[in-house]
Amino acid sequence: MYHVGIDVGGTNLKAGLVDQDGKILAVERVPLDFHGAEAFAATLADLAQAVLRTGGVDIAQVACVGIGLPGAVAGGDALFITNIPMRDVPLAQLFRKHLDLPVLLGNDADCAAVGEFFCGAGKGTRDLVVVTLGTGIGGGIILDGKLRGGLSSSEAGHLVICHGGEPCNCGRRGCWEQYASATGLIRLTKEAMAEHPESLLHQVAAETGGVEGRTAFQAAERGDETALGVCRNYVEYLADGTVSLINILRPEVVAIGGGVAAAPDELLMEPLREIVSRESFARHGGRTTRILRAELGNDAGIIGAAMLDRVV
Ligand SMILES: [Zn+2]
Repeated sequence: MYHVGIDVGGTNLKAGLVDQDGKILAVERVPLDFHGAEAFAATLADLAQAVLRTGGVDIAQVACVGIGLPGAVAGGDALFITNIPMRDVPLAQLFRKHLDLPVLLGNDADCAAVGEFFCGAGKGTRDLVVVTLGTGIGGGIILDGKLRGGLSSSEAGHLVICHGGEPCNCGRRGCWEQYASATGLIRLTKEAMAEHPESLLHQVAAETGGVEGRTAFQAAERGDETALGVCRNYVEYLADGTVSLINILRPEVVAIGGGVAAAPDELLMEPLREIVSRESFARHGGRTTRILRAELGNDAGIIGAAMLDRVV
C-alpha cells in the first residue's frame, strides 16, 4: 500500500506519494492561493489525485492521506492555521467530499517529528523530540512510538523561559520561540548591531541583502566578537527550552531542524550539547539524551504526514 503526504507550507502546497519505507516516489506542488475552506479542500484533493497519476498508483492502492498544517489541529478539524484564515474547519470531512480516502491532519512540527522518527535522526528510537527552528519553534514529540497527544499538536515553542519577557502572539510573554526561533535570532542580531556599529554583522547583512537567521553565524565564522556573543546568547536560549523538554520527557534523541540548524557545529550543536550535559538532570544518572541534527530537511513534512497513521 502507498500513502500520500501533503505539506501545507507558507507559499506552496506539496503532495508526495510515499511507499511503505517512507520513500518519496513522486511529488506535485501548487502555489497556496486561499479562497475559502471548501475550495482549499478541493485543491488538496486535486493535488492528491495529481500525485497518484504522476506516480502511476490507483486510489485502491492508497491506505491514507495525511495533511500537515502550520497550526493547531484536532481530529479531522483545522482549529487555527497560522498563515491561512481557517478557524474550526472540518477539513478532513470537506476533503473526503472530493476524494474518498481516510484522511488524517497533523501539525507540521508533529509531521516533521514523524518523518524523522521513521526515516531520519530518530530511526531506531522509541522516544524522540524534534525541535524545528523557523519563524516560530515547532516541537514534535514521539513517546513509545506514538505521537504525543495523538493528532492534537504539542506547542513546545510556547513554554515560557523568561517571565515578563518579549510578548508572543499566543498572548503570553517570554515564550521560548520569541528567543530561540529564527525570528528570535534575527531580533538578537539586530539588537547587537544597534549596540555595535563597528561589528562585521553590518557588512555581512549588507552583502546578503539584510539580516537573516544565518547572519550572526556567518560573521562569527569570520571572527567577529559581537557576532560570537549573539551566537552564544542564542544557544543559551535554545538550551533553556531544550533542557526543560529533556528533563520532562527524557527522550533518547532530540533532533534540531529548520534553517538555523544548518549553522556550523562549533557554533550551534557543540555548545548546545555542552549546556545540555551540564544542566539536564541526566547528569545525576539515568538515560542521557543524544542531541542530533534533523536529517530530512524539507522532505520531513511530506514523509511525516504520509506516515501519521502509524503513530496515532
Ligand atoms: Zn507564546
